Amino acid sequence: MSDIGKEQKMSDQIGDRREEPGFEGVPQDVLEEKIKLFREILFEERAKIFQNAQRTLTEDMTIDANDLSDEVDRTAFEQNQALAFRLRGRERQLLNKIEDSLKRIENGKYCWCDDCGAWIGFNRLKARPVTTLCILCKEKRERKERSSHHKKSEY
Ligand SMILES: [Zn+2]
Repeated sequence: MSDIGKEQKMSDQIGDRREEPGFEGVPQDVLEEKIKLFREILFEERAKIFQNAQRTLTEDMTIDANDLSDEVDRTAFEQNQALAFRLRGRERQLLNKIEDSLKRIENGKYCWCDDCGAWIGFNRLKARPVTTLCILCKEKRERKERSSHHKKSEY
């Protein structure tokens, strides 16, 4: 255990950060190892969504609106229905993003920014496995969204 006490940086491995000057890519074996990991993460996320969707479905079927006696319960019930529906919409969106990311892995685009073509960096992909943008392009888009008028961007 001679490494104990040695200072370790959080990110000093090749490819962890966004493309920096002189970046020449990541060795194939490192890349394959990382990609394997990201594919597992994405599969796991996808399985979780299916599990949630299944549970929501089961809960919906066991509650019958006609059984609710007073108006307060009915209102709460309708709010919950609306919430469940919205969550399913979000889960659907996330599911699409996961499928898209798996496709990006297959065609070798996963680690590269959709907008500027830069290396996204493993650290960012670990934090947001479905991202398609590097941090700079993401921030640029967020600034643009904030400065434009409040449009209904959810649909
Ligand atoms: Zn970019």
